[in-house]
Amino acid sequence: MEHSVELAELAVDAAALQMPRHVPEQGRRSKGLGRVGHRAVLKGAFSMQVPAPFEYRRAGTVGEAIGLLDRLGDTARLVAGGHSLLPMMKLRLANFEYLIDINDLHGELGFVAVEPGWIRIGAMTRHRELLESDPLAAAFPIFRDAERVIADPVVRNRGTLGGSLCQADPSEDLSAVCTTLDARCVIRGADGERVVPMADFHQGPYETAVGDAEILTEIRLPVHPNGSSAYEKVELRAGDWAVVSAGAAVRLDDEGLIADARVGLAAVGPNTAGIPGIADALRGRPPSQELYEQAGDLAAAGCDPVTDRRGSAEYKRYLARELTVRVLRTAVARIGAPPAAGDGDINRQGV
Ligand SMILES: Cc1cc2nc3c(=O)[nH]c(=O)nc-3n(C[C@H](O)[C@H](O)[C@H](O)COP(=O)(O)OP(=O)(O)OC[C@H]3O[C@@H](n4cnc5c(N)ncnc54)[C@H](O)[C@@H]3O)c2cc1C
Repeated sequence: MEHSVELAELAVDAAALQMPRHVPEQGRRSKGLGRVGHRAVLKGAFSMQVPAPFEYRRAGTVGEAIGLLDRLGDTARLVAGGHSLLPMMKLRLANFEYLIDINDLHGELGFVAVEPGWIRIGAMTRHRELLESDPLAAAFPIFRDAERVIADPVVRNRGTLGGSLCQADPSEDLSAVCTTLDARCVIRGADGERVVPMADFHQGPYETAVGDAEILTEIRLPVHPNGSSAYEKVELRAGDWAVVSAGAAVRLDDEGLIADARVGLAAVGPNTAGIPGIADALRGRPPSQELYEQAGDLAAAGCDPVTDRRGSAEYKRYLARELTVRVLRTAVARIGAPPAAGDGDINRQGV
């Protein structure tokens, strides 16, 4: 993705503020940023500490939220945990006339449901709940790996799965997790529900497949036997956004050969991305260090990092390679192994 000089500078400023680094191409309106977008930022709005005035609404049900969105159009935005939207509004990176608070939907959309062949997770499920869910960690240890390195307890207590995915930040850890796990995103609007594969959910930085009068209600993750997963991230400070992160999900067949291997990367392109060539290269072969390194080479070649304060594009490519090797190795080693007890207690991890 090419940025203009001005936008590249903006990305640098944003990194210093722990704000999103990738910005939409110049002249392109971003649904995620709303009406102000990058223009206000380029006028020096980074010094702003309070959002522009907005009207506040509170939805009690999913139907009510959709009704409000339908009536208020693109002047309105849902607010879940608020940990991405509100900082952007304070910095005048985004501006909306109405905020529709959906925290009352936690009863309806805050869940981890284990079903035959699938795990469903509600969009209002908070980071802390994902971190602490033992059934989720048993099926997909990648979630606990990722949640341990996302932000801090304050953010994890409020921030949600839905907000993470809908923010569509290229560095978002849960987006990389959902890409790795081939999630299906359930989007509801006035006309009913539709299911969008994760590969089509993000349509650019801060752009998703969710329409103006729609809400992401849940994601569905296919559960395969004889599989496991892992996640690793390199960050400048504990709880910081990724310099680069990688997830892997591997499945073995009855003979111990690789049946499927998915890798998802964050912070190395305009959106979190899978590297489909890795599955093709690994399928049908016995797991080995040599094979993981081959996959690492594919990841490094298949990503598109930019140089910023977090590191050079060359360094990020190196990380993409190395992290891919590590997560594939860990995912394979975990297949058949019981999950470690008490892993959800992050304080015991000394983070
Ligand atoms: C200091 C700090 C550090 C952080 N570090 C990390 C990190 O290391 N890794 C990481 O991945 N994240 C990090 N985050 C982001 C954090 O994970 C946020 O919780 C997350 O990005 C957004 O979740 P939210 O519920 O707060 O969303 P909000 O801010 O409420 O919303 C974000 C966007 O999603 C939309 N939205 C929310 N829910 C829905 C829905 N159900 N349907 C449709 N649209 C919806 C909103 O309208 C908005 O546009 C950090 C945040 C902070 C403040």
